[in-house]
Amino acid sequence: MTTATPTHAFWLAGREATGDETFEVTSPWDGRTVGTVGVPTEAQVEQAVAAAAESAAEFAATPAHVRVAALDHVVRRLTERAEEVARLISAENGKPVKWARGEVARAVSVFRWAAEEARRFNGGTAQRLDTDAGGTGRLALIRRFPRGPVLGIAPFNFPLNLSAHKVAPAIAVGAPIILKPAPATPLSSLLLGELLAETDLPAGSWSVLPVPNDRMPSLVRDERLPVVSFTGSGPVGWSILDSVPRKRVTLELGGNAAAVVLADWSSEADLDRAAQRIATFSNYQGGQSCISVQRVIADASVYDRLVPRIVAAVEAQVTGDPSDDATDVGPLISEDAAKRVESWVDEAVAAGARLLTGGKRDGASYAPTVLADVPADATIACEEVFGPVLTVASADGEEAAFAAVNESRYGLQAGVFTHDVQAAFRAHRALEVGGVIIGDVPSYRADQMPYGGAKESGVGREGVLYAMEDYTYERVMVLTGL
Ligand code: NAD
Repeated sequence: MTTATPTHAFWLAGREATGDETFEVTSPWDGRTVGTVGVPTEAQVEQAVAAAAESAAEFAATPAHVRVAALDHVVRRLTERAEEVARLISAENGKPVKWARGEVARAVSVFRWAAEEARRFNGGTAQRLDTDAGGTGRLALIRRFPRGPVLGIAPFNFPLNLSAHKVAPAIAVGAPIILKPAPATPLSSLLLGELLAETDLPAGSWSVLPVPNDRMPSLVRDERLPVVSFTGSGPVGWSILDSVPRKRVTLELGGNAAAVVLADWSSEADLDRAAQRIATFSNYQGGQSCISVQRVIADASVYDRLVPRIVAAVEAQVTGDPSDDATDVGPLISEDAAKRVESWVDEAVAAGARLLTGGKRDGASYAPTVLADVPADATIACEEVFGPVLTVASADGEEAAFAAVNESRYGLQAGVFTHDVQAAFRAHRALEVGGVIIGDVPSYRADQMPYGGAKESGVGREGVLYAMEDYTYERVMVLTGL
């Protein structure tokens, strides 16, 4: 069913604008049109970039209290409009509304942290230089200054929160930002623009532009945008880095995160908890999170008791209409995405994997699925599945389990279920990932912690303070004759 929807304007240098053309945003659940969005023309994109470049010096000099007030305003207004925004995310992305509510809460937290950090960032530090004769009478004062306008490119899977992770740190440091939302999910980012338009930020300092993918390479290469912060898939991310090796580029890419269950995590209650957490976080967002649990590696001594619990917990996941409060798992972002997941599962089963549950597709929906005995060279064992599919395997002891985690091109996060503090330290040392979560699944992220990958999962770190550091550089002033 198609209903008439108003055309959503985009945000060009802080003001509403419409282009010559539009595109439709449709619900992955029922195909209805959720919104119609204007496409910026090339001239409009040029205007936004020019405005960002022109406002850079003014924005960098904006007092902290003005930037903090804008960030606080977004915190307040997002909180007031939380339910509406959650329903919008759920409609455009297909994620269950209960998870969408969590995403709005996270975005609020990102803006709150940015306001906190903006209050104390760049106070400056002094360094004595008179430790050498040549430094007698000298003092260094070190402050950070924005590198210049930021191009923030966001994926579809957390359309609000991952946009917030680019926008809030930029405002916090006084760097202009052009935000480019994913084509499937621009509406929540455009709504964020509504809130920014209510603030006193310099108009030129921010834009939200749904630029078509085929026009992105030239925007990425534009020298007036010295920082590119990208969250999305590996092939696109690495091609960006290759095309602009001299820019400051952050890549937050994919993974095939593992949850390890060690031998000491063995009581009934332990195994029930691990199974519950694994089932929930292999399926939340339909498995479309970069830190969804994709692989379970359990010590051989607990494997046989753990796997039936995981299967039962996966089968208890409620699938269906994402707008329903009871739904745990909604559709994937598109039918094509579900067909890709289906083909990878079918390929693994044809090569000898055992299907313990799931394995069925209905349009864009794919049933929560568990596979055992997956051959090491199956696509699903090597690539990021980005769907509600979990593989289970056993390992003989801790060393073998950690080695299995590292047998991956990716290295975003890993979870290790253990009570043993020494094992926790060994895991921290051994696992080639950006974050090790002890006593839980790999799917935990707090917005103040450094977040990012090793290996092909990316370069650089996000997390409010880490992005603020990324968007700025240290500039020293040496005082002489003191
Ligand atoms: P994607 O790479 O298809 O798109 C990401 C963004 O890049 C979109 O805005 C898209 O329009 C844009 N884009 C496409 N072509 C481009 C080009 N040539 N130049 C510049 N930009 C271009 O990714 P997606 O499907 O939206 O997101 C899913 C991926 O994102 C998964 O691989 C997932 O693991 C990853 N992800 C990573 C993190 C993390 O923090 N590490 C978080 C969420 C998602």
